[in-house]
Amino acid sequence: MKYIFVTGGVVSSLGKGLAAAALGTLLEGRGLRVLMQKFDPYLNVDPGTMSPFQHGEVYVLDDGAETDLDLGHYERFTSGRLSRLNNLTSGQVYETVIKNEREGLYLGATVQVIPHVTDVIKNRVHEVAKRDDIDIIITEIGGTTGDIEGLPFLEALRQFKDEVGHENVAFIHTTLVPYIKAAEELKTKPTQQSVAKLREIGLAPDVILCRSEHPIDMDLRRKIAMFCNVRPEAVIPFLDVKGTIYRAPLNLHEQRLDDIICARLGLETAEPDLIEWRNMVDRIVNPSHSVKIGVVGKYIDLKDAYKSIYESLTHAGAANDTHVEIVRIDSSDIEEDGPEKHLSRISGLLIPGGFGDRGIEGKILAARYARENGLPYFGICLGMQIATIEFARNACGLESAHSTEFDEGTPHPVICLLEDQKSVQDKGGTMRLGTWETRIAPDSRSAALYGTESVHERHRHRYELNQNYLRDYEERGFRLVGTSPDGRLGEIVEIPDHPFFIAVQFHPEFQSKPTAPHPLFRGFVAAALERKG
Ligand code: GLN
Repeated sequence: MKYIFVTGGVVSSLGKGLAAAALGTLLEGRGLRVLMQKFDPYLNVDPGTMSPFQHGEVYVLDDGAETDLDLGHYERFTSGRLSRLNNLTSGQVYETVIKNEREGLYLGATVQVIPHVTDVIKNRVHEVAKRDDIDIIITEIGGTTGDIEGLPFLEALRQFKDEVGHENVAFIHTTLVPYIKAAEELKTKPTQQSVAKLREIGLAPDVILCRSEHPIDMDLRRKIAMFCNVRPEAVIPFLDVKGTIYRAPLNLHEQRLDDIICARLGLETAEPDLIEWRNMVDRIVNPSHSVKIGVVGKYIDLKDAYKSIYESLTHAGAANDTHVEIVRIDSSDIEEDGPEKHLSRISGLLIPGGFGDRGIEGKILAARYARENGLPYFGICLGMQIATIEFARNACGLESAHSTEFDEGTPHPVICLLEDQKSVQDKGGTMRLGTWETRIAPDSRSAALYGTESVHERHRHRYELNQNYLRDYEERGFRLVGTSPDGRLGEIVEIPDHPFFIAVQFHPEFQSKPTAPHPLFRGFVAAALERKG
């Protein structure tokens, strides 16, 4: 087994996760079996309890783990499906250590960061390494070198490399090379200092990825190489990618990142096969058409809050030879200005998942506009609940219909708490989570798009469609076409007599890949394109 650890220095948001994922693409292209994972030094047990304002999207895995959004990059850039073992946080580490201590497993020892905390961290890598279907594990360490919380992780890596042999471990350090306008100069000092910080702990990078907005010439690379004790070719410029993030593997391959890493780890492989990847990038950057899709949400100012949705729209656009221009619309603006102003300029409306009642009425107004004006509608999770509330109120005359999440005393609880949620008190990891099967009516649009009547999709919700109102809906042309296998949970609704109206209780965005766009997103973008035409 070979191990690559990716750390970051100077500042956060350097695209470390993207770089790690791109390396995953390249190594897979070389025929290696890659597994990617992330260690996050914060004390939350998982990001499931964090607000999207804090942390962006919560990415859900097959097994129901609520994880960091970088795991979304990993699944989109490589073929691996990840599990809860692949996102370790300090919260989990300390939870384990304290549980062990209470159970008496430390046999009277004083429990300390070294060795007890670092052991738990190393054990996680060893545990993952037991799998016999992988050749190489890429682990990204969240945060920035120098952070207090990150220290136990870096110390654990130092011990780990001694245990498994230096020849099996490579370190990549991502830094920022800022451009000082007044001096018209790129500056290497922050990189030097963050590498010095790593060395203090006993780690030395094999590769330094230099994030920069300006090209970095060979002289500068040599300078960084000299101060940081790496070879000049291993100082790799990581410039902003043009057009699409999916270019990142191609750019890093041009800089020979995969060569350098394979040489360092003694891996002999052929050049990577990137033909399919290159074709996909071409389709994204040179489309023949373009279409505007509105996304109405409450976290709309945050680029990362609906990350997987935006990526899925890009994938679906490429599949339709179309550039999808995403128009982000704050639901409170619809409440203030009415739907016409914002929605008349788009060709498709997507309402994504969400929690809490702010902006709900704006979303309901938007869904109504889409239904009444033949505007293609794609609802995801909360977006399905919104479509249902809207239909109940405005098409079935159930005026005060609502979800009990937002109005506990509503006379028409058309969306209500899932039965097994009623006794749940804890907030962390307690929703209906992970992959569950949905059976789809054969005569539905969804079945036609999927090309199958049984799908497995990922979930993250507490509330469900109340099926007591189904007869009312169906008489008026709103169908439940997908349910759990026992029929008890509503999963997909459609309005057959509408150009495109599909809303799902699950999160299809977690399974779309650039090389394998999700069928529902694909159908939605196609419908938007048709409307525009
Ligand atoms: N708040 C809703 C629920 O818990 C929707 C959740 C979501 O959109 N992820 O059911």
